[in-house]
Amino acid sequence: MTGLSCLLERYRALVCDLDGVIYRGQAAVPHAVEALSAAGLPVIYATNNASRTPGEVAEHLVALGLPTSAEQVINSSMAGAAEVARRFLAGSPVLAIGGDGVAAALRDAGLSVVTSAADPVVAVLQGYGPQVRAVDLGEAAYAIQGGALWVATNDDLTLPTDRGIAPGNGALVAAVALAVEVRPLVMGKPQPPLYLMASERLGVPAEKVLGIGDRLETDVAGATAAGMDCLLVCTGVHGVRDAARAPREYRPRFVLPDLRGLTRPYADPSPHDGGVACGAALARIDEGRLSISGDLGDDGLDGIRAALVAIWTRADEGASAEVVTRLAEQIPQPR
Ligand SMILES: [Mg+2]
Repeated sequence: MTGLSCLLERYRALVCDLDGVIYRGQAAVPHAVEALSAAGLPVIYATNNASRTPGEVAEHLVALGLPTSAEQVINSSMAGAAEVARRFLAGSPVLAIGGDGVAAALRDAGLSVVTSAADPVVAVLQGYGPQVRAVDLGEAAYAIQGGALWVATNDDLTLPTDRGIAPGNGALVAAVALAVEVRPLVMGKPQPPLYLMASERLGVPAEKVLGIGDRLETDVAGATAAGMDCLLVCTGVHGVRDAARAPREYRPRFVLPDLRGLTRPYADPSPHDGGVACGAALARIDEGRLSISGDLGDDGLDGIRAALVAIWTRADEGASAEVVTRLAEQIPQPR
């Protein structure tokens, strides 16, 4: 496989998700810290989870062994605050609902933070916070009924925790939306603002930035919407078989089992002889059966990448969801 470039050689900067890519809970994802430390490209970490400030996140990354400054961390609260600041005068009062990260982002964007709708506010910025109560959602509803612009940091319905699935910011936003019959502007992934903010901060155009994430409908969809190529790394929520079933806008350009592959030669799949070739692997679909032949490459990855494109092609030609699911289940797991 000599002569093939690795992913790091094709881009000038990285925008990396955190949960499921760099850490899970407090602990580092295997190989992530080593791979990013050795990457040698500027990195921005972009997360929908805005309950912690960039400084707190940077401290966590440093504790894991990844030298990081607060300027390298952006969250959906910052994208939300930037949007409010773009529309209103500096110092305008904004109702902050959520964790400390929400209020901090508003202050950093030059806005004043209030916690009650009793005084007039120009906007509401709603983000996740574990301490958010029903009375806080009430304040948001009053402000929105009073004509305030409503911005949500993100609309993730669920929040995976070590005890199970908790309601995420999207569920709390939905509670307010049911009451006021208005929908908010949503800033976080899969919307593009967070990725565009990263590209601007890096000073690198979106097409030369590689997005890295573990979730198809947020990371991959958001990076793609911002004009970036995206790498799905299978250390978090989604794996190869999920990617095979994904609609077009959720499909990653690249797939790796973990971040060690950033510095390894990466073969790109292309149509070949009625199937899809990747490196020396060939994937074909005949009568609902997926077959992968040839040299499947390191960890079987060339075979898997060829199979993914073969299945996507079949889906785009009109194969039913059931057929696509059956094909996806025939993809071998990375070795
Ligand atoms: Mg994630």
